[in-house]
Amino acid sequence: MAQEKIVILGTGGTIAGQAQNSTQGVGYKAGQISVAGLLAAVPDLSQLAAGRTGAVLDALQIAQIDSKDMDWPVWRSLLQAVKAGLEDTATRALVITHGTDTLEETAWLLQAVLQPTKAVVLTCAMRPSTALAPDGPPNMLDAAVVAATPGARGVVVVCAGVIHGAQDVQKVHTWRLDAFSSGDAGPIGYVEQNGLRLVRNWP
Ligand code: ASP
Repeated sequence: MAQEKIVILGTGGTIAGQAQNSTQGVGYKAGQISVAGLLAAVPDLSQLAAGRTGAVLDALQIAQIDSKDMDWPVWRSLLQAVKAGLEDTATRALVITHGTDTLEETAWLLQAVLQPTKAVVLTCAMRPSTALAPDGPPNMLDAAVVAATPGARGVVVVCAGVIHGAQDVQKVHTWRLDAFSSGDAGPIGYVEQNGLRLVRNWP
């Protein structure tokens, strides 16, 4: 049987952004660091995935954009890559690194079109990778925890320790690290100490 894998798809965004110095929070360039570079910044991610599931991480760069510039060709490439991952029996789950500006649109699109029975976990950051305390690496770790959880399914967004369902999530803040809300529906759950506390069902 083929080696099980968690597929990490990179699309750009602030999570892959670079500033001129560690205190620059605006005017930085989104979509600069490759998805392989993002993984290299969290060396324990592979160990966590292997320890919990036996799966290896497989990184694939789909795009390298500021997600305010999201367009149909990128969405089509992403849909095709996620569909291929869902159909591959060796793929356990997928993680997508994405900018926050159109994260909710991408999440909704993937859920509406693919209705996955595996977990498709979108994650992001509000600070560029060069920040003094970047939020991308912990968000990537939380996304991997969700992806490695038995029974996790559907398209979800993981940001600042909160798990949002694709149909409810909205960006509600321009600067806060916890920039997303699920409104009245509430989040699906929380990632706490590398474990999950679920308060609703998966999408
Ligand atoms: N403009 C960036 C993007 O959407 C913002 C972010 O990722 O937080 O790619």
